[in-house]
Amino acid sequence: KESGTRENNVAKIKVVVRKRPLNKKEIARKEDDIVTVCDDSSLTVHEPKLKVDLTAYVEKHEFCFDAVLDENVANDEVYRITVEPIIPTIFQRTKATCFAYGQTGSGKTYTMKPLPLRAAEDLVRLLHQPVYRDQRFKLWLSFFEIYGGKLFDLLSDRKKLCMREDGRQQVCIVGLQEFEVSDVQLVKDYIERGNASRSTGSTGANEESSRSHAILQLVVKKHNEVKDSRRNNDGNESKGGKVVGKISFIDLAGSERGADTTDNDRQTRIEGAEINKSLLALKECIRALDNDQIHIPFRGSKLTEVLRDSFVGNSRTVMISCISPNAGSCEHTLNTLRYADRVK
Ligand code: ADP
Ligand code: MG
Repeated sequence: KESGTRENNVAKIKVVVRKRPLNKKEIARKEDDIVTVCDDSSLTVHEPKLKVDLTAYVEKHEFCFDAVLDENVANDEVYRITVEPIIPTIFQRTKATCFAYGQTGSGKTYTMKPLPLRAAEDLVRLLHQPVYRDQRFKLWLSFFEIYGGKLFDLLSDRKKLCMREDGRQQVCIVGLQEFEVSDVQLVKDYIERGNASRSTGSTGANEESSRSHAILQLVVKKHNEVKDSRRNNDGNESKGGKVVGKISFIDLAGSERGADTTDNDRQTRIEGAEINKSLLALKECIRALDNDQIHIPFRGSKLTEVLRDSFVGNSRTVMISCISPNAGSCEHTLNTLRYADRVK
């Protein structure tokens, strides 16, 4: 499928599905693995069903994507397929976004956690190449969370942030801390720090983080010595540099949370509605991008508003849809694959 314009032979939108292995609990419960990866771009879901007379049968659902990764594919390979091809484009004014979508427990965090570090390694290496060495490029990192429609800085004690648009329709997150990351160990430290400050409640980390979107951005900026000494209020030139390109890594809220809209708890309902809204808006924006539409409906949610500058111009989007293989997750798995199918 032709996905919009291509530069460096990198598709504008790439949809990848990753299946995780059955876990110990699922094996102990003797759950069936109902997802078969047929080849590197297709899979079949075997949905267990019952007829009216209660005899069991299986309904097959086949899907095709840009890439389908089975449970034996390691994180390194995921990086090579999803993010690595985009890295060189960051130096050519590209704003890239890599999402992990899927139900809670399907492997989003497991998939996303190592990606920024690998990307930073490659970006730092490129910064030091002869072609770029004289251009005063620097790499910056920020890490924040969208929880209940509000923004929190994960690298500055969960400080509440707000968003502002400048005259040139650039989004700027006021007060968001950006850190220069000249070496990879620093990137590692910031990722650890940010992950530790993700919303967690008494119910355990996975439970609460499943209700928020975590956004880690790596930004390449070009630094001009004269300008650097001035304070600049322009969101596009914060910390003295001019944005060359960037890549955002987004660990989305659990897709099933968008259905929490009839929960008894009011707070849960509000969060569910917000998540639902943002995942729908995200799908619409990616589709609009793919069709090269002039109007991108980014105002549909906080998530898409924050990503506004990544949805215009030279953009690249990779969506990694994570799925659980067990029979008990069948409905969620089909929902995730249908969502991915609509985006593709
Ligand atoms: P999510 O972020 O979608 O809620 P997690 O990334 O926390 O899910 O994954 C749930 C559990 O499954 C974790 O214990 C994780 O280590 C494990 N897991 C996920 N994907 C894989 C995989 N591809 N291989 C091995 N273990 C995995
Ligand atoms: Mg998670």
